[in-house]
Amino acid sequence: MARVRPGRISRFVAELRVEPGRKVRLPRDFDPSKTTRGVSRSEAKAILGQGIEYLAEYQARLAAQDDYGVLVCLQAMDAAGKDGAIRHVMSGVNPQGVEVHSFKVPSSEDLDHDYLWRYQKRLPERGHIGIFNRSYYEEVLVVRVHPQILEGQKIPAKLKDRGIWKRRYREINDWEHYLTDQGYRIVKIFLNVSKDEQRDRLVTRIDDAERNWKFSAADVTERRHWDAYQAAFADVLSNTSTPWAPWYVIPADNKPFARLAAGAVILDTLVKIDPRYPSVSAAARAAFADARVELLDGSATGSSLPRGTKRSRRRSSAS
Ligand code: ATP
Ligand code: MG
Repeated sequence: MARVRPGRISRFVAELRVEPGRKVRLPRDFDPSKTTRGVSRSEAKAILGQGIEYLAEYQARLAAQDDYGVLVCLQAMDAAGKDGAIRHVMSGVNPQGVEVHSFKVPSSEDLDHDYLWRYQKRLPERGHIGIFNRSYYEEVLVVRVHPQILEGQKIPAKLKDRGIWKRRYREINDWEHYLTDQGYRIVKIFLNVSKDEQRDRLVTRIDDAERNWKFSAADVTERRHWDAYQAAFADVLSNTSTPWAPWYVIPADNKPFARLAAGAVILDTLVKIDPRYPSVSAAARAAFADARVELLDGSATGSSLPRGTKRSRRRSSAS
């Protein structure tokens, strides 16, 4: 079976990346049902399992190095599998090193500020992986598809002109550039589900009692704007895939493949950061040796040797 190797991941991920400056058309340019030839569903699951182990190792190193941070923006139509992708890809990593934030309709406090304010507040700490389940890209997607949302935003009326989307792309690109200069790595994932597959998944949420809780009538009304969303996504991909914060379009009709691909994109980002456990200086190592003697000797605290400590171990540590 295929094994996870950094060079292989890098090549696989490169195929999903949107070249900066490319003019994207949807659905023409990206096939939502595409998978890697020769990789079956069960193989995709097995490779993801291996990839998750690597991810956990790299995340531990990212936390130990504690200077770079990773931000993953996840965007998609409803029922494309955002939640499942996050759950599977992050299943093996230390929860203390991952922050997941879901962004819903902005609050009145949010609307009292500039549109990036609420996202800035939720950026991951250095050493962490932050996942935005929906992100500031909603500001050029749902807000563009529904002009009344823009009407409700408290920006001066004369700034709500037709040039607003191009300005927002520039502002987002600039902000992401700034964050990159600050040591953040930003990856943006579009889970690209087809209209037919979305219909089937929404119908399953109605038909399957255990999935009823996931069904939202709003998803059906939003689906009426499918073409407008596709156009808005195409424009976003064309204008905001940059060398410092590229977009990845992941075919999402096949869930195991989509999860594998999302995991690969995040792993590739970590591999490129190549975080290391900090090395310890000779002086610090000497201090460790003293501390070890004190712990095992017990003279400083009056305590006896811990159970199971052999005299030979004690002697060798003191030498
Ligand atoms: P799930 O349905 O799996 O819980 P979800 O992300 O679809 O996840 P919902 O509560 O169903 O969550 O929907 C959130 C809604 O908030 C979406 O319709 C989204 O477009 C909207 N939203 C998110 N950000 C903004 C924004 N900045 N301005 C306006 N609407 C937004
Ligand atoms: Mg929803």
